[in-house]
Amino acid sequence: MTGTHDGHPGPGPYGGHEASGPGPGPDPVRDPWRDSMRLALLEAARAVPAGDVPVGAVVLGPDGGLLATGYNEREATGDPTAHAEVVALRRAAAKLGEWRLPGCTLVVTLEPCVMCAGALVQSRVARIVFGAADEKAGAAGSLWDLVRDRRLNHRPEVVGGVLAEECARQLTDFFRNL
Ligand SMILES: [Zn+2]
Repeated sequence: MTGTHDGHPGPGPYGGHEASGPGPGPDPVRDPWRDSMRLALLEAARAVPAGDVPVGAVVLGPDGGLLATGYNEREATGDPTAHAEVVALRRAAAKLGEWRLPGCTLVVTLEPCVMCAGALVQSRVARIVFGAADEKAGAAGSLWDLVRDRRLNHRPEVVGGVLAEECARQLTDFFRNL
């Protein structure tokens, strides 16, 4: 899996056009995360009834098993920090009884913001997998690349663009129906 740390080629989020259409064939970097991303998409949908932007996350343990889930519930809870990633990280840590989540993977439908990127670094997750890039606020490669800043001593692996079109469509459908 060498090369996945900085796996996105060229400018623009995660290869830009490569995510359009069915693609040229198997993608050994992203394909293994599709099932988990589908779970995150289902989580994201649970945000909508409360008027929250649909972003969903799941945390997988070192063995790949499902540890925790979360979805954006800022409107539902009135909590500015209740982004899907933070909710899922808190639940994963509570389940493990430990704030460190080494070997764990967080899968989220939208590229993490600065707050979530910071929380992910703090949690020591091994890997961040995201769906749609967020060119306006993304902190895992788009606007910032906080999680791979070489000044930090913990830098998770990043895999972006998993089911990117489905993830982006869920968001655009939400905003279109407002
Ligand atoms: Zn966030």
